[in-house]
Formats: sequence, C-alpha cells, structure tokens
Amino acid sequence: MKQPTFKIKEAFYTLQGEGARAGRASVFIRFSKCNLWNGKESGRGAALCQFCDTDIVGTDGMNGGTYTLDELLSLSLTLWPETSEGKPYVVFTGGEPALQLTEELVAQFQKNKFECAVESNGTLPLPSNLDWVCISPKGKSEVVVTECDELKLVFPQQDLSPEDVSHLKADYYYLSPMADYGIENSGTIIRENMQGATQYCLEHPKWRISLQTHKLLGID
Ligand code: SF4
Repeated sequence: MKQPTFKIKEAFYTLQGEGARAGRASVFIRFSKCNLWNGKESGRGAALCQFCDTDIVGTDGMNGGTYTLDELLSLSLTLWPETSEGKPYVVFTGGEPALQLTEELVAQFQKNKFECAVESNGTLPLPSNLDWVCISPKGKSEVVVTECDELKLVFPQQDLSPEDVSHLKADYYYLSPMADYGIENSGTIIRENMQGATQYCLEHPKWRISLQTHKLLGID
C-alpha cells in the first residue's frame, strides 16, 4: 500500500526560540500550509490570521520537500547530533501542523526516542499522543483544543485579548509581543508591544513574557 506523504516547508536543527522550552536543542519540522491564511500577501487582508511572519507556502525551504513518514523520520534522525547527551526533541510547527500530523507519525518518532512537541493555532484536533502541546490562538478563529501544556498568545491582537483565552487550560501562559511582519515603523511598534505585554504581565501574574530569543541570537 502506498504510504501517505507530508508536505514540509523546511526542517532544521536549532534552539527552541520561545516559551517554556526556550533554549532547548530541537529539530524543527515546519509543515507547509495553514488553515488561517493562504500564505500570499494578496490574501493577508481577508485572512483569519493577519500577522504571520513566516513563509508557509510550498516545500522550497531548507530540507523542504514531500516526504513519506519513513523519510521524514530518517531526515530528523540525521539532523539530530550524534551524541547520547540530551533526549532527542522534535517540534512540529507550521503553517498549521494539525492539517497533516497523525498519531502514527508521532508514534514512529517516539519509537525512535524523540520527544514530540507541537506548535498549533488550536483550531483543529491534534494527535492525542504528543508529549508537549503549545497552542497559539489567532484572531477570531475558533479554538477546539481547550487543554495544552503551554498557551502562547501574540500580543496585542485586535480581535483577541488574553481575557478571551484565559479559560483555556494550560500549565503555562505566555504573552509574545507582536513582532515585525513588514509593517512601517515596526521598530517603534515592537517597542510599544513589548511595553504593553510587560505591563499586562505585571498586572496579571498568571501570564509571562515570551521573547523571540532565536531572533536575538540570530538563528532560525
Ligand atoms: S496561524 Fe500561525 S502559521 Fe497560520 S497564518 Fe497565523 S501565524 Fe502563520
């Protein structure tokens, strides 16, 4: 029987940039496509998520392509360094990984000693066997994943405030100041966003700040 295939935008080895696991060595697998934006500038204005700063179209990034499960696992094993130190860790991201991610894929990675994390917008059901779930709700989209390890909210969002999502169950609640996605005066706006997020966390101690440390470090 023909194996299902997965469209991968890019895959690389890096340090996790944001959230509770920031700084951890990780294989990042970026699935192509998202259900909240078609990835084209012409579609941004009508998208449910309008501030994406990631290229999510196609399979033309580093190690991008169409992979069978075995091929994707083999690539990930190659990307992880040859050392017995630390547990191999993979982060499935996107785009929206829930469009393609399956329990079988997660199970195969786990069988090969990978701890499996996902970063999702939470609007689609996820495989139940993931080890770490980070949900990042966007705009007016309906979130169906109501429990996660980590809730990460880009802040501020016109249509979504921390109060709108604080009922979702999570071990960690993070505000991620909205960064540059091609807007004018982005330096000033980013500073304002950081100040706003800082102030919110000071007033609501359940929330913590998450910075994009990979950008500060100059890595992917
Ligand atoms: S949900 Fe995530 S991947 Fe999809 S458009 Fe928004 S930021 Fe980009």
